[in-house]
Formats: sequence, C-alpha cells, structure tokens
Amino acid sequence: MKKNTLLFIALATQLFTFAQTHQEKVQETVSKSEIEGHIYFLADDLLQGRKTGTAENKIAASYLANTLRGYGVKPNPQTGTYYQPVPMEEVSPTTPFQLSINGEEQKRKVVLEARRMSLKTKAIFLGYGMEEDYAGQNVREKIVIVKGGNKKANDARSAFSLRSEKRELALKAGAAGIIELIEADYETWSFIDRNFNATKVQLAETDSKEVKGKNNLAYVWIQDAFGGLAKTYEKEAPQVQIKLGGKSSKAINSQNVVGIVEGTDPLLKNEYVVFTAHYDHVGTGKANAKGDKIYNGARDNAVGVTTVLSMAENLAKYPTKRSAIFLLLTAEEEGLLGSQFFVENPIVPLQQIVYCINSDNGGYNDTSIATVVGLERTTASRMFKDAASAFNLIAKGDPAPEQGLFDRSDNVNFARKGIPAPTYSLGFTAFDAEILKYYHQPADEAESLDFDYLHQFFSAYVLSGRMITDSESTPFWTKGDKYEAEGKKLYNK
Ligand SMILES: [Zn+2]
Repeated sequence: MKKNTLLFIALATQLFTFAQTHQEKVQETVSKSEIEGHIYFLADDLLQGRKTGTAENKIAASYLANTLRGYGVKPNPQTGTYYQPVPMEEVSPTTPFQLSINGEEQKRKVVLEARRMSLKTKAIFLGYGMEEDYAGQNVREKIVIVKGGNKKANDARSAFSLRSEKRELALKAGAAGIIELIEADYETWSFIDRNFNATKVQLAETDSKEVKGKNNLAYVWIQDAFGGLAKTYEKEAPQVQIKLGGKSSKAINSQNVVGIVEGTDPLLKNEYVVFTAHYDHVGTGKANAKGDKIYNGARDNAVGVTTVLSMAENLAKYPTKRSAIFLLLTAEEEGLLGSQFFVENPIVPLQQIVYCINSDNGGYNDTSIATVVGLERTTASRMFKDAASAFNLIAKGDPAPEQGLFDRSDNVNFARKGIPAPTYSLGFTAFDAEILKYYHQPADEAESLDFDYLHQFFSAYVLSGRMITDSESTPFWTKGDKYEAEGKKLYNK
C-alpha cells in the first residue's frame, strides 16, 4: 500500500471517530441482550423482592456495585468503595401501652414517641399546648393533655405538622408526657392507626437528634372524634393511668450504590449530573391466585436501575463535558430514605450537583412514548424530546400531574434541595388496569416485559443523559416552578 493511502485511512478513521454522534455512541453501548441480563437477574425469584435490610437486598447492591466496577466507573471518593452506607432502624410499636383516663380504657390510641413509664396521676389540661398555654404552669414530670392542632386548624393534619413544636415546648417545660386529643373521623383515624401502629423503617436517629434518658418525652395521640373529650377535660383535668414501654428499635444496615465518571471539560467537569434509581422493592407478601408471593419488582424498579447502569456504561466509555454520578438507592419503598440520606450526606457538595435524572417505574401501557414526570418543569425538556424522537418515541409529561407523582419518588428529595429533578418512566397514559396488574404485584416479572420497547426506551434515556451532561448551558427549573426559589438559593443565582 502506498504511503498516501495509509495516511488517508488513518485520517478517515480519525474523521469518523470525530464525527461519531451522540446517537451513534448510544447505539454502540446500549444492547437489548445486556438489558435483559440485568433485569432478569435483579427480578429473579432468588432475590426475594430485594426488600431493604434483607440479605437479598445486599446481593442486589453487590451486583450493581460490581457492574459499575466492570464498566470502569470510579468508586465513591468518600469510602473508596461503590457503597454509601445508609444507617436505618426498624421501629416496632411500643409495648406495653395501656392508657385509661378517668378510669376508662382508651382503645383508639397511638404512640408518636415512647418513654418507659408507669404513672397514675392527675393530668394538666393545657389548651392547644402552644407557648402561651404554658405561661404560669408547672408541668414538671406531669402528663399534659392538649387539643390537636391550634386555634386556626384543629384537624389531624395540622396536629401532625405542629407535633415537633409541641414536643419541644413540653420538653422545655419538663413534662413527662403529652396526650393530644385528635379530632379525626373513622377513616382518618384508621389511617393514623395503620401508620403509627406498624413496624416501620426510618433513618437512624443521630445522637444530636435523639434526646436520651430522663429528658425523653412520651407523646401519645388519642381519637376524640367530635371534640367531646376536650370539652370534658377542659372543665376538669382528668385522672390518667398510663403504662408505656420504651422505644423498641433494631438497627438495619443497607446501602446506596454509587459511582462516578469524570467529565472532560476543564470547567464543566465540576458540575455533576446525578442519575438515580431505587433498587429496593417490597420483598415477599400476600400470594396471588397462582400462589406466587414474591414481589419481583421487574418494572419497579429493576428497569430504572438498569437504565442507570446503561448510562454508566456509556459515559465510562464516552465521557461528556460534565461529570456524572450513578446513584442506586435503597429504601425508596420505606419512604424515600436512601435519597433522603444522600441529599443530607452528599458525596460532592450539593451545589455542584446541577441536575438529577431519576428513573422509577410502575408499569407501562403505551409503547410509543417515554413518560418524563416533570418534563416541562425544567429547561431540559427539548433535549428529552429530541432524544426520544431519535429512537422513534415521543417524550411526554406526566398524564395526571394533579396526583402529585413528581413528589412521590426519590427525585423529590433532590427537588426540595433545589436540584432540577424529573423522573424518567416507561410510557403510561393513565393508571389503568394494565398498570395495576403489575404495580406492587407478584406479576411484576421480567418475562412479561417487552424488551424491544425497552431497548428503544433505554436508548432514548441514555441519549437524553448524554445531551444533558454535554450541553453548553446548564439546565434549570422553568420560571415559576415551585422549586425554583430553592434552586436559586442552592446555586446562588
Ligand atoms: Zn419504584
């Protein structure tokens, strides 16, 4: 071969490489069989529904961590591993819990906060238990009885939002406990009962948050459906007999999985786009008609987790201007705990995280679209739309914004800090029977997925991610969005 020919080939190769578009780079790494491999593993019966705190949840985490390792993604700089430990606790309803007032046993009661005690005493009635109600009262080591909420609003919701304030006031005054009378109808009270009288997982309380020993306070709610009890106790404070156990909790150790790909632009690499998806699911439960009791969570959220893996593989191979964090979250199903922990303990300063693309999935009923919950709420909407149409899909917003879906997945913890954070989901046009067939059901298995559609969907997602991490301007909230002010504060705009 002649020298010029060789030169020509070398040049052509280089030109070709240079000319390779985002779309071509996506097509090169996103493969249908690889998507299937990840989803079939994560939704395997062997993983028992990946419930937070179980061994199978940890196996899923190890799979994700080592997949990131295999792709050449860098570990969490804080730990040198692909994990961020998330300390949690499982809190069980307090036992014993006996309460009678004026000799009458109370049945509709819940404990908001436990303190071991056994007391028989005359209580002190303190109105709504707000600051002015404590004036001139000595409640030291006494039980105070208060009405729910305040003068303006005495429903259960108001009582709930005032609870920290009332707790602080009672603690400051040295009270032993608060009994709050909640005006709630049957339905509301059953909701309260289910919520507080159940075992639940929460982030472990740090020592500074927890008030230990003698300073602790018992905080109890009882139902006072029509306000009758309040009227009686207002006239004369009642005799209270209460027996209460301490807080009963057990540590749960779980972890977020996290990796980083550094950007290529000397300036923009200091900006991070975070790609999130929760990998936990609800575990095992009630069997369906076929006797299947494993809630595999293929759609929710093996699909989302696998989109993040695809993004990681692609950016590790073809980095863009900005840096990227791949964050696979635990304990979403327990109340968005993994993402809450991350935004409170970010691995890079929060103001350097300029955008979050979350992926979470209930199911799908339209394979011509990709649903982006919050599509028009950030200035990246054009990029989502272009990326989808490059793979013959249409990016559409949430079909029912009034249901507040935006605020019900991990993205909301980022949004509340000001970080623009839509959720990318399989195409759905309504919460119809097709969605409910799989949503939090044993039927949510890999076998029932349309992988041709998934291949398109993943390609559109990865292309959106490339466009956003590589764009010249940094996307932000659209004007007037409810999180815009937080965003301005976070980024000093
Ligand atoms: Zn989910």
